[in-house]
Amino acid sequence: MNLKEIYTAKKEPVISYEVFPPKDDTDGEKLETLFEELNKLLCYKPSLISVTYGAGGSNRNESVEIIRRIKKELNVTPMPHFTCVSTSTKNISEYLKTIESFDVKNILALRGDLPKDGNVCHDFKHADELVDYIKANTNLSVAVAGYPEGHKECESFEKDLNYLKQKVEKGAEVIFSQMFFNNEHYFSFVEKCAKLGITQPVIPGILPVSNYKQLFKMADMCRVEIPAKLKETLERHKDDSDYTKKYGIEYASHQCSELLQNKVRGLHFYTLNKSYAVGQILKNIL
Ligand code: FAD
Repeated sequence: MNLKEIYTAKKEPVISYEVFPPKDDTDGEKLETLFEELNKLLCYKPSLISVTYGAGGSNRNESVEIIRRIKKELNVTPMPHFTCVSTSTKNISEYLKTIESFDVKNILALRGDLPKDGNVCHDFKHADELVDYIKANTNLSVAVAGYPEGHKECESFEKDLNYLKQKVEKGAEVIFSQMFFNNEHYFSFVEKCAKLGITQPVIPGILPVSNYKQLFKMADMCRVEIPAKLKETLERHKDDSDYTKKYGIEYASHQCSELLQNKVRGLHFYTLNKSYAVGQILKNIL
């Protein structure tokens, strides 16, 4: 199914997961563990599983293999992420042909983070150009990233929104959001998108907190707020990893319930390749 069909066919909210190709997996053991974890989450009937892509193509082969197995073994629609930074048009064209040869229907089109060594290939500067290229050269249905608290590089929130609008005007059909821990940011973002005429579904990205240090690192990297209550609770229990995981599930369940009450079209879980927290949250809210 393509993205449009997925987000219009179902009356219920669409459940989707994000996974990443395991690192340092020479014997393939971590990949098997990933599929065991995904199998545990199949009972919540995901409509889509997305697979991240290392900017510059560092894990391209692993990413393609996971996509192939999601489709064949799990019978779930896969959505590869793809970044255009530091990649030539020729490379992009080859990749798109490869995934279409596996009958992949969807793609999340991204620019990717700029490499620290400044080694940027200038064929594509921003994700909107990639959306344009994909729409002109393939039959893929395209999703893009959106940032409820603004992208970390953006000069102003308004400019960032206008760039999002460009991505949509060039053919993006669904927007997947950056993680957030304060639903107000998401609600306000959706409202501002609607005012600009962006009518495509904005799917909230949910990260269940499971590790104190990791959360602060990721939030800092992506420039997202950690609300005071979440911060204080995690700081108070920072040496108790079981409590952190339990509280993370409780917190995300509450976030998801409120989002569902506000009629979101779907929930996209950043699984970090683990099933337990996401499974517990879905058990709590569905
Ligand atoms: P863009 O839309 O190009 O935006 C990047 C910045 O440029 C923004 O500040 C924007 O305001 C500005 N901008 C946009 N268009 C223009 C324009 N035409 N002219 C001038 N300025 C412009 N990274 C990975 O490496 N691999 C992944 O698999 C991955 N998956 C992700 C999934 C989701 C749901 C999200 C939210 C992010 C993901 N990222 C991933 C991170 C993403 O690559 C980074 O946030 C990256 O810095 C921006 O990518 P983008 O597609 O949003 O870029």
